[in-house]
Amino acid sequence: MTKARDFSSESSAGTDVELPAEDQPSADLQAEYADLVENVRRYRFAYYNEDSPLVSDAEFDTLYRRLEEIEELHPELVANDSPTQEVGGEISAAFSPVKHLAQMYSLEDVFSLDELKAWVDRAQASVENMRPGTAVQWLTELKIDGLAVNLLYRDGVLVRAATRGDGTTGEDITHNVLTIEGVPRKLKGTGVPSEVEIRGEVFIPSAEFVKLNEKMVADGKPPFANPRNSAAGSLRQKDPAVTASRPLRVYVHGIGARTGLDAESQSGTYALLEQWGLPVSPYFKVLKTHDAVLNFIAHYGEHRHDLLHEIDGIVVKVDSFDLQRALGHTSRVPRWAVAYKYPPEEVHTKLLDIQVNVGRTGRVTPYGVMEPVKVAGSTVEMATLHNQDVVKAKGVKIGDIVILRKAGDVIPEIVGPVMALRGQQDPPVRDFIMPTKCPSCGTPLAPSKEGDVDLRCPNARSCPSQLRERVFHLAGRGAFDIEALGWEAAVALTSPDEPDVPPLTSEAGLFDLTPEDLADVRIMRDIKKKGVVTGEQLVPYFYSRGTEKKPSEPNANTRKLFVELEKAKSQPLWRVLVGLSIRHVGPTASRALAGAFGSMERIRGASEEELANVDGVGPTIAAAVKDWFTEDWHREIVDRWTAAGVRMADEVDESTPRTLEGLTVVVTGTLTGYSRDEAKEAIISRGGKASGSVSKKTDYVVAGENAGTKRDKAEQLGLEILDEEGFRTLLEQGPVKSAGD
Ligand code: NAD
Repeated sequence: MTKARDFSSESSAGTDVELPAEDQPSADLQAEYADLVENVRRYRFAYYNEDSPLVSDAEFDTLYRRLEEIEELHPELVANDSPTQEVGGEISAAFSPVKHLAQMYSLEDVFSLDELKAWVDRAQASVENMRPGTAVQWLTELKIDGLAVNLLYRDGVLVRAATRGDGTTGEDITHNVLTIEGVPRKLKGTGVPSEVEIRGEVFIPSAEFVKLNEKMVADGKPPFANPRNSAAGSLRQKDPAVTASRPLRVYVHGIGARTGLDAESQSGTYALLEQWGLPVSPYFKVLKTHDAVLNFIAHYGEHRHDLLHEIDGIVVKVDSFDLQRALGHTSRVPRWAVAYKYPPEEVHTKLLDIQVNVGRTGRVTPYGVMEPVKVAGSTVEMATLHNQDVVKAKGVKIGDIVILRKAGDVIPEIVGPVMALRGQQDPPVRDFIMPTKCPSCGTPLAPSKEGDVDLRCPNARSCPSQLRERVFHLAGRGAFDIEALGWEAAVALTSPDEPDVPPLTSEAGLFDLTPEDLADVRIMRDIKKKGVVTGEQLVPYFYSRGTEKKPSEPNANTRKLFVELEKAKSQPLWRVLVGLSIRHVGPTASRALAGAFGSMERIRGASEEELANVDGVGPTIAAAVKDWFTEDWHREIVDRWTAAGVRMADEVDESTPRTLEGLTVVVTGTLTGYSRDEAKEAIISRGGKASGSVSKKTDYVVAGENAGTKRDKAEQLGLEILDEEGFRTLLEQGPVKSAGD
């Protein structure tokens, strides 16, 4: 079987020796094989017996696959104790061993849809061989990221519960399982067999996991790395009272030995299990085609975080018991089931450093710098650590191997250190020390008010970091929308390597800049030869590199920058307000203020009460606005921008009819004729309120392409939903006509 995943960027994937074509395995390959066997065993022990993994699942899977790959090419190497020959997991001396009546298997994993297709085709072909003309039905269900249990019921009474162990013998955890909510001591209903082993997965619901970890930290204990570990750690407790205090749940997903059970299919068994009072997952489906299975996988790939529990993949099983028996199993896995694994969301990487960033409002935020690692489809090398208390609570130290998690589109998070590896780091790990002075300007840091955990740099006016962040922010799409003024240009304008005094020492001067002011701006750039960095060099940023024949002149980006700066001067008032970086004043409050007062002059002159009375503003924002204008250098920004020609008042366009006066409209999905901002603008300029969330107070929902949950909610609430054409009519004619009256 070929490798499907590429984890080549990960630290110890160990897949570097080419497989030789000749029959004899090379000495290197034999050594690699021996290392793999030892490491996989060691990792398994830490994972199953100590509930404390040393490597991420993704890294483990890669090593395991490499082991399988070598064994497939060189079966003579396969050692009796190879991890591929047995179900993972051993028995801890803390529990009594119990023999399962029927073996508990693991599952064959596939990591790509192509591999899944190959597996489905193979299974279908085997069935065709044995039972010609039989179409397979695929029982497709969620792969719960928990740990396996075996529940033995005799005459309907739970007599024993065990972990999977090595598949033959497990650990007796009966007392602990009896404390889990939803596990019946006695089965109810009819047709209860005289003896049956029921297999399931113990898990901690995702929301409960968060609460549990908060409690662990509050109690001064290390948090669990993930819900799977927390479930395993909670279930494998010597004291059942501890297990009872943990929010464990079970879903059952199979049966082992049975006497007196009448069922023909796995799905038929689920109906019986449910009737007997056992918790069956509500999400399984019996599907007829490979395409339907793919849809199921795609659906839960997108919604995997909307579920009660974590999943790491989808399990596809041949539904018919007759076909299951015919297909049989290997020593480790059934041939009638497969697990498709989603790309990993949790990986391990080295925390190289913890640095601090000074934000737009002066907040000093520590963030982790890591060895770059691929997680949930993107490469990550930095993740915020929020503040010094969070660093402490997570218990991470510089040099630690850390667990990094990125769930779908969610920003990456450093979960915590891999404690078992801490002593092995070279150089040894060290504590992060929060600076007491601003790393950018040297001003002593302080909380903005007593008891605040966040430290701030109070030098708002001249701290280069804060200025750079403000300049970057005011150029953003939600403010002046100056595309040519991105992050790098903001750095070059506020803190270039040369000259010492940057072109901008306050954003007040932004609209007074001339191309000549930027001629000397130089930044440090890597010199690359054939893609390899060979050194660094100071280069002009805003100007082309001149030659004798052709003197240096503003480059294309700079020409674009000045065109856009000119254009930005006529942006509507709310965008100017956003660009001022007033605390709490984002686009929504800015629109409300601009709509209510119409000019900067009137906003500046308004009392706190008048400001607070504006719908969508309130006392906190009003106080922040009032406070902002008390600073001289803040007023100077407004004055200098005004003098440079920035428009500080919205023109009231009498020709735009106030067709939406008093109406609330939500736009969702993509419209062809309007960007999100244009649609909002169109609603607001006609007197309407453009809201971001659907509620009973919403009058209209405009649904474009790919409108998602907001449209569903509007339907549930029975609101009027308009397409783009309907929206246009609404804007032009107001509500009565557009409603089709
Ligand atoms: P597995 O977890 O990939 O799959 C088999 C198990 O899935 C079954 O035993 C069952 O308990 C469970 N399962 C969940 N939902 C199920 C469902 N609906 N139907 C049937 N079974 C379901 O295999 P495994 O042998 O338990 O463990 C191997 C995996 O564990 C590896 O792929 C790796 O991700 C992880 N692991 C990690 C480390 C590590 O160090 N990080 C070490 C060992 C194992």
